[in-house]
Amino acid sequence: MTPAGSLLYADALHKAYGPTAALDGAAFSVHAGEVVAIMGPSGSGKSTLLHCLAGIVRPDSGSVTYQGRELSAMPDAERSALRRGEFGFVFQFGRLVPELTCTENVALPLRLNGVKRKEAERTAQEWMDRLEVAELGHKRPGEVSGGQGQRVAVARSLVTGPRVIFADEPTGALDSLNGERVMELLTQAARSTNAAVVLVTHEPRVAAYSDREVVVRDGRSRDLEHLV
Ligand code: ADP
Repeated sequence: MTPAGSLLYADALHKAYGPTAALDGAAFSVHAGEVVAIMGPSGSGKSTLLHCLAGIVRPDSGSVTYQGRELSAMPDAERSALRRGEFGFVFQFGRLVPELTCTENVALPLRLNGVKRKEAERTAQEWMDRLEVAELGHKRPGEVSGGQGQRVAVARSLVTGPRVIFADEPTGALDSLNGERVMELLTQAARSTNAAVVLVTHEPRVAAYSDREVVVRDGRSRDLEHLV
């Protein structure tokens, strides 16, 4: 059953690593344009939940449904096409490619989707403008600050026009001022494109940018919305 209006929905997710139950009946839902923060102590299963929702980790049981289609029922190629086309990712340490310039990094998801270099770099530049890092285009990731690099990573997550942006501790490596600016820009950009944001964080200050919080404890999440 998919709750009315959810873009992405998970129910009864279980995932074990050997004897460790990383997820033990987790549930989750997010609507288009909604920012949801997944909160909870370290080791509670937040990242595993995010990875299951994004189709990166396959749960042992339970379902993840995106736009009415169950991820686990899709062939691998279709699931990776979905990840490349409809999902964007921001990680704790930007994970930019060090050999490429910032513009080339932002353009990379478009290039992988077959967009020609000139057009990809033009779109990349527009997103870098919006994330206030336009002037860094020719620099390499090693030549920019942590906060700047993370804004470049956010631009990269948005460049393909994803419907869902997954952000795993996106401000975890930043000081509070830079972290808040990254959150402001990320949520503004997502709202302007009606993309959903699924954010893992343990910082209440970061979760304050969300519309709703889902708390994970011992692999179980309480997503109150889908119970109503
Ligand atoms: P959180 O993001 O809340 O810190 P995780 O989802 O990373 O929690 O981890 C949940 C539990 O699953 C932890 O006990 C962790 O050690 C374990 N775990 C997560 N990923 C793996 C893995 N790839 N191999 C073995 N154990 C893992």
